Amino acid sequence: MKIICIGRNYRDHAKELSNPVPKNPLVFMKPPSALLLENKPFYYPDFTNNLHYELEVVLKICKNGRHVQPDFSAGYYKQIGLGIDFTARDIQDRCKEKGHPWEIAKGFDHSAVVSSFYPLSDYNRSSIKFEMKKNGDSVQQGDTSDLIFKFDYLIEYVSQYFKLQMGDLIFTGTPAGVGPVKVGDHLEGYLEGKKIIDCKIK
Ligand code: ZN
Repeated sequence: MKIICIGRNYRDHAKELSNPVPKNPLVFMKPPSALLLENKPFYYPDFTNNLHYELEVVLKICKNGRHVQPDFSAGYYKQIGLGIDFTARDIQDRCKEKGHPWEIAKGFDHSAVVSSFYPLSDYNRSSIKFEMKKNGDSVQQGDTSDLIFKFDYLIEYVSQYFKLQMGDLIFTGTPAGVGPVKVGDHLEGYLEGKKIIDCKIK
Protein backbone atom coordinates (compact mmCIF):
# COMPACT_ATOMS: atom_id res chain seq x y z
CA MET A 1 0.00 0.00 0.00
CA LYS A 2 0.99 3.60 -0.33
CA ILE A 3 0.12 6.79 1.52
CA ILE A 4 -0.62 9.70 -0.76
CA CYS A 5 -0.75 13.13 0.87
CA ILE A 6 -2.13 16.43 -0.35
CA GLY A 7 -0.50 19.67 0.80
CA ARG A 8 -2.04 23.15 1.07
CA ASN A 9 -5.61 22.03 0.43
CA TYR A 10 -7.18 24.59 2.78
CA ARG A 11 -6.64 28.29 2.04
CA ASP A 12 -6.31 29.33 5.69
CA HIS A 13 -3.52 26.77 6.25
CA ALA A 14 -1.63 27.74 3.06
CA LYS A 15 -1.75 31.33 4.35
CA GLU A 16 -0.54 30.53 7.87
CA LEU A 17 2.68 29.04 6.43
CA SER A 18 2.99 31.88 3.86
CA ASN A 19 2.54 29.47 0.97
CA PRO A 20 0.70 30.35 -2.23
CA VAL A 21 -2.67 28.64 -2.82
CA PRO A 22 -1.85 25.96 -5.42
CA LYS A 23 -3.41 25.74 -8.90
CA ASN A 24 -3.17 21.94 -8.88
CA PRO A 25 -3.12 19.59 -5.90
CA LEU A 26 0.29 19.42 -4.26
CA VAL A 27 1.08 15.69 -3.92
CA PHE A 28 3.67 13.87 -1.85
CA MET A 29 3.92 10.38 -0.38
CA LYS A 30 4.84 8.60 2.79
CA PRO A 31 6.10 5.00 2.76
CA PRO A 32 4.09 2.20 4.46
CA SER A 33 6.65 2.24 7.31
CA ALA A 34 5.29 5.68 8.26
CA LEU A 35 2.03 4.16 9.54
CA LEU A 36 1.20 4.37 13.25
CA LEU A 37 -2.07 2.58 14.04
CA GLU A 38 -4.32 1.69 16.98
CA ASN A 39 -3.65 4.86 18.99
CA LYS A 40 -0.15 3.75 19.82
CA PRO A 41 2.10 6.42 21.37
CA PHE A 42 4.37 8.47 19.13
CA TYR A 43 8.02 8.74 20.13
CA TYR A 44 9.50 12.17 19.44
CA PRO A 45 12.36 11.69 16.96
CA ASP A 46 15.90 12.93 17.70
CA PHE A 47 16.40 14.68 14.38
CA THR A 48 13.91 17.52 14.83
CA ASN A 49 13.31 20.34 17.28
CA ASN A 50 10.07 21.50 15.69
CA LEU A 51 7.67 18.62 15.18
CA HIS A 52 4.18 19.75 14.05
CA TYR A 53 0.83 17.95 14.06
CA GLU A 54 -1.50 18.30 11.05
CA LEU A 55 -4.93 16.70 11.44
CA GLU A 56 -6.46 15.52 8.15
CA VAL A 57 -9.39 13.53 6.80
CA VAL A 58 -8.08 10.29 5.27
CA LEU A 59 -9.74 8.34 2.46
CA LYS A 60 -9.27 4.59 2.13
CA ILE A 61 -9.12 3.39 -1.47
CA CYS A 62 -11.45 0.42 -2.05
CA LYS A 63 -10.61 -0.59 -5.63
CA ASN A 64 -7.80 -0.47 -8.12
CA GLY A 65 -7.80 2.10 -10.87
CA ARG A 66 -5.81 4.45 -13.03
CA HIS A 67 -6.98 7.49 -14.98
CA VAL A 68 -10.22 7.51 -13.02
CA GLN A 69 -12.83 9.64 -14.80
CA PRO A 70 -14.81 12.27 -12.85
CA ASP A 71 -18.13 10.37 -12.95
CA PHE A 72 -16.51 7.33 -11.33
CA SER A 73 -14.17 8.82 -8.72
CA ALA A 74 -16.71 8.55 -5.87
CA GLY A 75 -16.65 4.76 -6.30
CA TYR A 76 -13.01 4.51 -5.28
CA TYR A 77 -13.43 5.36 -1.59
CA LYS A 78 -16.23 4.24 0.70
CA GLN A 79 -14.60 4.76 4.10
CA ILE A 80 -13.01 7.71 5.84
CA GLY A 81 -10.98 8.25 8.96
CA LEU A 82 -8.59 10.79 10.40
CA GLY A 83 -4.84 10.97 10.30
CA ILE A 84 -2.04 13.06 11.71
CA ASP A 85 0.55 14.09 9.14
CA PHE A 86 3.47 14.58 11.53
CA THR A 87 5.94 17.03 10.01
CA ALA A 88 9.45 17.98 11.09
CA ARG A 89 8.87 21.64 10.21
CA ASP A 90 12.51 22.67 10.74
CA ILE A 91 13.72 20.01 8.29
CA GLN A 92 10.91 20.78 5.85
CA ASP A 93 11.86 24.48 5.86
CA ARG A 94 15.48 23.59 5.08
CA CYS A 95 14.38 21.26 2.26
CA LYS A 96 12.09 23.93 0.81
CA GLU A 97 14.85 26.56 0.91
CA LYS A 98 17.13 24.29 -1.10
CA GLY A 99 14.40 23.01 -3.40
CA HIS A 100 15.00 19.49 -2.08
CA PRO A 101 12.36 16.76 -1.68
CA TRP A 102 10.48 16.63 1.64
CA GLU A 103 10.54 12.93 2.45
CA ILE A 104 12.82 13.11 5.47
CA ALA A 105 10.59 15.83 6.96
CA LYS A 106 7.29 14.05 6.33
CA GLY A 107 7.84 10.38 5.55
CA PHE A 108 9.85 9.23 8.54
CA ASP A 109 8.81 6.24 10.68
CA HIS A 110 5.41 6.67 12.36
CA SER A 111 4.82 10.08 10.77
CA ALA A 112 1.38 8.91 9.54
CA VAL A 113 -0.98 8.35 12.46
CA VAL A 114 -4.17 6.75 11.14
CA SER A 115 -7.47 6.07 12.93
CA SER A 116 -10.00 3.34 12.33
CA PHE A 117 -12.24 3.86 9.28
CA TYR A 118 -15.98 4.53 9.09
CA PRO A 119 -18.50 4.33 6.23
CA LEU A 120 -18.58 7.56 4.27
CA SER A 121 -22.33 7.02 3.84
CA ASP A 122 -22.74 7.90 7.55
CA TYR A 123 -21.58 11.45 6.83
CA ASN A 124 -22.61 14.42 4.72
CA ARG A 125 -19.66 14.12 2.36
CA SER A 126 -19.70 17.77 1.30
CA SER A 127 -19.33 19.04 4.87
CA ILE A 128 -17.53 16.81 7.35
CA LYS A 129 -16.33 18.54 10.50
CA PHE A 130 -13.20 17.47 12.33
CA GLU A 131 -11.23 18.83 15.23
CA MET A 132 -7.86 18.43 16.92
CA LYS A 133 -7.39 18.94 20.63
CA LYS A 134 -3.97 19.35 22.18
CA ASN A 135 -3.87 18.78 25.93
CA GLY A 136 -7.64 19.36 25.97
CA ASP A 137 -7.58 22.66 24.03
CA SER A 138 -9.13 22.88 20.58
CA VAL A 139 -6.31 23.80 18.15
CA GLN A 140 -7.70 22.87 14.72
CA GLN A 141 -11.29 22.95 13.47
CA GLY A 142 -11.77 21.72 9.91
CA ASP A 143 -14.73 21.37 7.58
CA THR A 144 -14.33 19.55 4.28
CA SER A 145 -16.61 22.16 2.66
CA ASP A 146 -13.49 24.39 2.78
CA LEU A 147 -11.33 22.00 0.72
CA ILE A 148 -9.76 23.66 -2.32
CA PHE A 149 -9.63 20.33 -4.20
CA LYS A 150 -12.52 18.04 -3.24
CA PHE A 151 -12.22 14.30 -2.63
CA ASP A 152 -13.50 13.27 -6.09
CA TYR A 153 -11.08 15.56 -7.87
CA LEU A 154 -8.16 14.25 -5.80
CA ILE A 155 -8.98 10.70 -6.97
CA GLU A 156 -9.13 11.85 -10.58
CA TYR A 157 -5.93 13.90 -10.32
CA VAL A 158 -3.76 11.46 -8.38
CA SER A 159 -4.78 8.44 -10.50
CA GLN A 160 -3.34 10.11 -13.61
CA TYR A 161 0.10 9.57 -12.12
CA PHE A 162 -0.20 6.71 -9.63
CA LYS A 163 -2.30 3.59 -10.00
CA LEU A 164 -4.68 3.55 -7.05
CA GLN A 165 -4.69 0.20 -5.29
CA MET A 166 -7.09 -1.19 -2.76
CA GLY A 167 -5.91 -0.22 0.73
CA ASP A 168 -4.04 2.92 -0.33
CA LEU A 169 -4.68 5.95 1.85
CA ILE A 170 -5.08 9.58 0.84
CA PHE A 171 -4.40 12.30 3.42
CA THR A 172 -6.52 15.16 2.09
CA GLY A 173 -4.78 18.17 3.67
CA THR A 174 -4.92 20.09 6.93
CA PRO A 175 -6.82 23.23 7.95
CA ALA A 176 -5.23 26.13 9.86
CA GLY A 177 -3.97 25.74 13.40
CA VAL A 178 -1.00 23.42 12.90
CA GLY A 179 1.57 23.73 15.63
CA PRO A 180 4.38 22.11 17.59
CA VAL A 181 4.20 19.23 20.03
CA LYS A 182 6.57 18.25 22.80
CA VAL A 183 7.13 15.15 24.86
CA GLY A 184 4.20 14.68 27.26
CA ASP A 185 1.59 16.26 24.95
CA HIS A 186 -1.71 14.52 24.29
CA LEU A 187 -3.40 14.82 20.88
CA GLU A 188 -7.02 13.87 20.27
CA GLY A 189 -8.70 13.85 16.86
CA TYR A 190 -12.48 14.11 16.56
CA LEU A 191 -14.59 13.27 13.50
CA GLU A 192 -18.04 14.89 13.77
CA GLY A 193 -17.64 15.01 17.54
CA LYS A 194 -16.48 11.41 17.97
CA LYS A 195 -12.95 10.85 19.24
CA ILE A 196 -11.15 8.47 16.90
CA ILE A 197 -7.52 9.49 17.45
CA ASP A 198 -5.78 9.45 20.80
CA CYS A 199 -2.04 9.95 20.58
CA LYS A 200 0.40 10.51 23.41
CA ILE A 201 3.79 12.01 22.58
CA LYS A 202 6.57 10.17 24.42
ZN1 ZN B 1 -0.44 17.54 5.69
